[in-house]
Amino acid sequence: MGRLCTVRDVDWSGKTALVRVDFNVPMQDGRVADDTRIRAALPTLQFLREKGAKIVLLSHLGRPDGKPAERYSLKPVAARTAELLGAEVRFATDCVGPPAEDAVSALGPGEVALLENVRFHAEEEANDSGFAGQLAGLADVFVNDAFGTAHRAHASTEGLAQYLPAVAGLLMEKEIVSLGSALEDPKHPFIGVVGGAKVSSKLAVLENLIDRVDRLLIGGGMANTFLSAQGFQVGKSLLEADLVETASELLQSGGKIVLPVDVVVTRDLTGNAMPRTCAVEEVGADEMIVDIGPRTMDAFKAEIATAGTVLWNGPMGIFEDPRFAAGTLSVARAMAESKATTVVGGGESVQAVEQAGLADKLTHVSTGGGASLEFIVAALKSDCM
Ligand code: ADP
Ligand code: MG
Repeated sequence: MGRLCTVRDVDWSGKTALVRVDFNVPMQDGRVADDTRIRAALPTLQFLREKGAKIVLLSHLGRPDGKPAERYSLKPVAARTAELLGAEVRFATDCVGPPAEDAVSALGPGEVALLENVRFHAEEEANDSGFAGQLAGLADVFVNDAFGTAHRAHASTEGLAQYLPAVAGLLMEKEIVSLGSALEDPKHPFIGVVGGAKVSSKLAVLENLIDRVDRLLIGGGMANTFLSAQGFQVGKSLLEADLVETASELLQSGGKIVLPVDVVVTRDLTGNAMPRTCAVEEVGADEMIVDIGPRTMDAFKAEIATAGTVLWNGPMGIFEDPRFAAGTLSVARAMAESKATTVVGGGESVQAVEQAGLADKLTHVSTGGGASLEFIVAALKSDCM
């Protein structure tokens, strides 16, 4: 990897930082329901405060479609940020124009302002350069700490970097270094664990990972397409028939792929039918696969226990239903107990790890959903890695 410029490389005295954060947090009844993303940004904010920078925070929240909407206001987020930071956070009712300019000019060294939802302007998602220029006019240096949105070309991400010197925040740095080093020079055995709903959404990742890993453990809905390629009947399970051929090709890559040998199946998802566990050869025509079975969990656990590096993306079953969460939890636990470098990325997988209270037992839990995946794919493809 080339050298990454970060907030550490800037002399902050007298400077204003425009920090793109990912404060797209879940809200409930006008309050922040989960402040994980705000807490993730604190190291950067504390660092900039200590260096005496004036700090201007910029984020999106939800999908307000380019116009102001009360329910997508970042105002409650300013209050929660102030509590977590133990310092005042001024709130500007617009991210450009007089409200933003006034809030910024009132800042002293080490002080913080949060600007209103950048997506209240259609120019944000259109990556309008005039709008990016207006935002850039508020500060001296652009700090990108929004890993989850960094792959999108919007005015507050790609656009700003055209106008201001751009550096990574500490969260972004951690993401890039952790994901990058796991892939650049992995300790072997390098085990990939991939699950989730569909092969199609992760085909690029599978194709890139297969050459790097020593073993690829596949579970979740996507395993069905591989099982079908092996000639098993998967009944009413989620299946991508058009990808069975691709799955066969992947299966020929040197015996690296490990598939479920047993599964949890059910006749309907409502709770009326009793789920049962069976071998993969015994799935009935009216049943659907909803989780990996205990023998598969043990096999996956054994692989993870002796790994040097484990990279996990995608749950092993429909874990949102506690009856079908055991496979996903067992992978999370195996990773937490393993001495390997353990990295998890992906919206639902990370949610599962957090629900299980195991996030701090892993080497790196990526805050990015789709971005982690795209980063992994990009990193695997780039020659400098
Ligand atoms: P991530 O966000 O971690 O990358 P995905 O978005 O690819 O993961 O997939 C997550 C979804 O996959 C979950 O909502 C889960 O319910 C679903 N899923 C997992 N296993 C199955 C299965 N056997 N059948 C249907 N859906 C599944
Ligand atoms: Mg997802």
